[in-house]
Amino acid sequence: MVDIKNNLQQVRAEIAKAIERRRPDLNEEVKLIAVTKNHTIDEMRYAIDNGVDNIGENRIQEASKKFSTLDRKVTKHLIGHLQTNKVKSAVQMFDLIHSVDSEHLAIAINNTAQSINKIQNILIQVNLANEETKTGIEYENLNELINLIKELKNLKLEGLMMIAPNFDDVENCRPLFKHMYQIFSELKNQNANVKYLSMGMSHDYKIAIEEGANMIRVGTAIFGARNYNL
Ligand SMILES: *Cc1c(COP(=O)(O)O)cnc(C)c1O
Repeated sequence: MVDIKNNLQQVRAEIAKAIERRRPDLNEEVKLIAVTKNHTIDEMRYAIDNGVDNIGENRIQEASKKFSTLDRKVTKHLIGHLQTNKVKSAVQMFDLIHSVDSEHLAIAINNTAQSINKIQNILIQVNLANEETKTGIEYENLNELINLIKELKNLKLEGLMMIAPNFDDVENCRPLFKHMYQIFSELKNQNANVKYLSMGMSHDYKIAIEEGANMIRVGTAIFGARNYNL
């Protein structure tokens, strides 16, 4: 049996240790998002009972089913790729969408948000590793997307997100995290709303925090292996 409570304690202790190891100017707190995709509503509730207040899901249908039975207030994060035809449900459901990676998606989210009078908080997902299989906007197109989003009045850009490749040696993530932090710092200097750098998952969150992440998305290290038969 997976001991979610104990795992949460361990992850929180590791977060605190990683914060100690980083440069003194990176002294802000780190938000832990518990990623509940492919885990049950009971596991989600148990984590919330044990202090989790940020939940990450990556599929609209699964998230909708689970959130509809949830009677507690949590901050809801969409961390997975978003298709245009699911934008409406996503805007209705999520507090922060991490995966904005194209102009047409930004425009679609803005239009839907406008139609329901919502300011949608978003992050731009950046693809620094340039792997063909990964989603995220490539660095050379990032500024153009940022400039477009400035014009979209129902979007509030709160930061950047990245998914590091699954290297055999997790230390290989470090230069990518460092680079991402530089990009984030520059953006933060230009835009007062920008505050989150979402990077780091179960296998690499300690390094991500050392390099300046202030939002991490952790599933397996809290809930154990995902159940794809749910
Ligand atoms: C599934 C997922 C996570 C969590 O991954 P773990 O390795 O289980 O911690 C984080 N971020 C994104 C975008 C994901 O899809």
